[in-house]
Amino acid sequence: MKIKMVDIAGNLSFVRDKISQACSRRPSEFGNVIPRLVAVSKTKPPNLVIDAYDAGQQHFGENYVNELIEKAGHPDILKRDIRWHFIGHLQRNKVNKVLAVPNIWVVETVDSNKLATALDTAWPKFRTSDDFKLNIMVQVNTSKEQEKSGCEPAEASSLVKHVLENCKNLNFLGIMTIGAYGYDPASGPNPDFLSLRQCREEICKELSLDKEQVELSMGMSTDFEHAIELGSTNVRVGSLLFGERPPKH
Ligand SMILES: *Cc1c(COP(=O)(O)O)cnc(C)c1O
Repeated sequence: MKIKMVDIAGNLSFVRDKISQACSRRPSEFGNVIPRLVAVSKTKPPNLVIDAYDAGQQHFGENYVNELIEKAGHPDILKRDIRWHFIGHLQRNKVNKVLAVPNIWVVETVDSNKLATALDTAWPKFRTSDDFKLNIMVQVNTSKEQEKSGCEPAEASSLVKHVLENCKNLNFLGIMTIGAYGYDPASGPNPDFLSLRQCREEICKELSLDKEQVELSMGMSTDFEHAIELGSTNVRVGSLLFGERPPKH
């Protein structure tokens, strides 16, 4: 088998350039918020995470609990100040495992009151200082596909309300969507991204929040520029940085 070399530093600077170009195409209402780049390292070995970190990347995303635990616990990764994003479906019986991960920075996939409560209850056992809240995002199933997780768009604001009012150990960061795969931005603004924006409107109105207080996590390798033009503040990019993944089994 031929081993393909991956030029992580080159790929990172390519993606960062694309991000800043996309920022300059945004309407001025988005201000100068620079979207956060999350390098999605699922299925990729620890050495690529290390290469990316050493090339200046701090935020990484994983969506399988065991893989996150293994990678985050790798001795050379532990030495680095990585900020982990959990971006996969989270079952309540796995909450302790995810919260025990050193440097867990955000759980992007909170999709029910029960999961929020479970995270809130468990976090004090794991945090390193008393006033350190766990960042969370609420995942919204904007494409309304059965197999996708996330709360219904119409439920998002009551879930956020639950987090703000009842989960004092959690810090609400924003809302996240995966969206339907394969949408062609040439057909116009991605309806999933528009739907997430609409969700934010409703959340802000119902809970009297400012737009700046509610991040939008949307956009992946094929559409992060498009997502940024529509207001994304957090893009999750995997294959464009680390190379294609083997097809899902
Ligand atoms: C895999 C994954 C990504 C990254 O996908 P790419 O197409 O490789 O950029 C982003 N978000 C989530 C939730 C994922 O599971």
